[in-house]
Amino acid sequence: MADQECIFCAMVAGKIQPAAKVYEDGEYLAFLDINPRNPGHTIVITKKHYEVVLDMPEKEAGKLFELVKRLSVSVKNGTQADGISILQNNYRASGQAVPHIHFHVIPRFNSEGPPALETILSVKRMPEDVLKKIAESIKSGGGSEPKHEKPKETKKKDLFEDF
Ligand code: 5GP
Ligand code: ZN
Repeated sequence: MADQECIFCAMVAGKIQPAAKVYEDGEYLAFLDINPRNPGHTIVITKKHYEVVLDMPEKEAGKLFELVKRLSVSVKNGTQADGISILQNNYRASGQAVPHIHFHVIPRFNSEGPPALETILSVKRMPEDVLKKIAESIKSGGGSEPKHEKPKETKKKDLFEDF
């Protein structure tokens, strides 16, 4: 179901054109990012509108990732990249700007740095008892098709608010 306000749905409907399409079939579209973080930075979307991956049935999420994996090989070969970062943001807190499910496939090069997660978030060291409590909280957080609530503007759980 298309969302009237959604820029990626408008692309799927052909109302706006991505400058450079990389892949298209009945269910998916991939195109070069308009603000590339590196040459070949590719966005992979489902044609069906989902806001976030948490909204998708697991089977559909799995199928989407199969395509992301396949396109990662194409992007790596096509750009002669030394590595590939696969990035997927959910909700504003994560940096999601376009609320339509998408994966970033970003070529990475040995000549650039820093190559890892530190580019996004700094390391927060936590004592073992806090790590264990967080793991317990995650384990009790849901099953195979977890229901989830839209994020609320609340502060972090008491469990780790010092970090
Ligand atoms: P997000 O921050 O939501 O994970 O990333 C959205 C990405 O979509 C951004 O990197 C942004 O540059 C890209 N983007 C947003 N609008 C357009 C557009 O109209 N065309 C293309 N090709 N990319 C877009
Ligand atoms: Zn959409």
